[in-house]
Amino acid sequence: MSVNEQGFSTMKPAVFKPVVVLVGRPNVGKSTLFNRLTRSRDALVADFPGLTRDRHYGEGRVGDHPFIVVDTGGFEPVAKNGIMAEMAKQTVQAVDEADAIVFLTDGRVGLTGHDREIAERLRRSGRKVLLAVNKVEGMSRAAAAAEFYELGLGEPHAISSAHGDGVVDMIEEALQGLVETAPEVDDDEAAEMARQTDEEAFSPVDAIDHRIKLAIVGRPNVGKSTLVNTLLGEERVIAFDQPGTTRDAIEIEFERGGRRYTLIDTAGLRKRGKVFEAIEKFSVIKTLQAIEASNVVLLMLDASAEISEQDAHIAGFVLETGRALVVAINKWDRADSERRDEIKREFERKLRFLSFAKMHTVSALRGAGIGPLLKSIESAHAAAFAKLSTPKLTRTLQAAVEQQQPPRKGIFRPKLRYAHQGGQNPPLIVVHGSALDEIPDSYRRFLETRFRETFRLEGTPLRIEFRNSR
Ligand code: GDP
Ligand code: GDP
Repeated sequence: MSVNEQGFSTMKPAVFKPVVVLVGRPNVGKSTLFNRLTRSRDALVADFPGLTRDRHYGEGRVGDHPFIVVDTGGFEPVAKNGIMAEMAKQTVQAVDEADAIVFLTDGRVGLTGHDREIAERLRRSGRKVLLAVNKVEGMSRAAAAAEFYELGLGEPHAISSAHGDGVVDMIEEALQGLVETAPEVDDDEAAEMARQTDEEAFSPVDAIDHRIKLAIVGRPNVGKSTLVNTLLGEERVIAFDQPGTTRDAIEIEFERGGRRYTLIDTAGLRKRGKVFEAIEKFSVIKTLQAIEASNVVLLMLDASAEISEQDAHIAGFVLETGRALVVAINKWDRADSERRDEIKREFERKLRFLSFAKMHTVSALRGAGIGPLLKSIESAHAAAFAKLSTPKLTRTLQAAVEQQQPPRKGIFRPKLRYAHQGGQNPPLIVVHGSALDEIPDSYRRFLETRFRETFRLEGTPLRIEFRNSR
């Protein structure tokens, strides 16, 4: 099969963002801390109908160091007598996959029996645990923390999630040794640009020469490993599946039609041929790490099954991280014409917010539809790294405003003056003007559509930031 004819050169461990998991009983302030750490990107992203946002997973950043934050939502004691029941399955899995755990307690309530039980579980997990005593604003930190030493989890960090006291220091300690050893991922420059928004600071690299970092994601059984096998050639996939690498992700480099790709591969993708059909449990964390480490995501859906909540969640992550996206509906060979119509309608209905992405129908098993799929992956990558000129952006903005003004807010009408590009992957468009604080989502989407049309930005999310001129 011609699809099997391309070679791959090297593979190396992928650098994933470290995972910090927040654990603690209900009401200690986990979601408050989560919100502080992730400072949601809502201000840049419009809310789309049908978009599923999972507020338990997000990206945080301390200085230059990005990391993934997971809020486990607490250990619910289901049994009586305050005895903690089995940890929720998700919590167990998150703890298992954590690079560092922040164990939150409540400095106002003091140490409880439930805290002791959680501490015991965490000690046994063998993972790095930081003990945080929360809500200590206005209290003596030393006094608030004193009784928590007995948990035997080291020095308690007295913090206030609500006010921010002590939070940065604590997270820096949590990340110590995790980020220093991690060489920066190679699209650094792009990431750096995404942070800088001054026009002078922005000088786009010629990203088209960049390797496409591709993450293939989707529910278990949609056909991810089959596709990887089809792309790389089965024997190769098996050959490099060495023992001891199961926990780590690796990057696999391969070439197709003169284009170089880096496949961000998680252990879940490397099944051991037919020898043992490992039933991998689905890992949100690994999926999110792979998405974060990529610049293009291939979301796989299964034509023979309904589009599920889980599919929508994964899609929501992609939108939030801003990675370029291509959708493949797999197992097309198994769907009769009725089913084919049905799944397309379902896609329209449930994943409408992915309308920026190209959708392909494929059969990973038979190698059907793979060529066009890779073409779309390439063009999504190109769109994600497109250079948008300031004059053209500004003209597009002005034409849009002429067609439809932003709605008045009180006595002020927002004035949109000019626009420039502030970043890539995803493209960030910074719109300057005055009274821009309350531009509604509907208007943001209207502008997005205009920008997309003008610059033909298919396959990538687009961010718009409104900035009031001083
Ligand atoms: P979770 O159940 O652990 O996620 O806890 P939440 O984040 O929902 O917080 C529970 C309550 O504690 C809320 O009323 C928060 O406003 C409050 N809270 C959280 N952090 C702090 C803090 O640092 N100081 C004070 N005083 N209250 C806090
Ligand atoms: P993963 O869990 O997403 O990696 O899924 P697998 O690649 O292990 O595929 C799950 C099952 O679906 C396997 O039995 C595959 O042979 C089957 N499968 C994968 N792709 C196709 C396809 O295009 N058509 C059909 N009919 N079956 C497929």
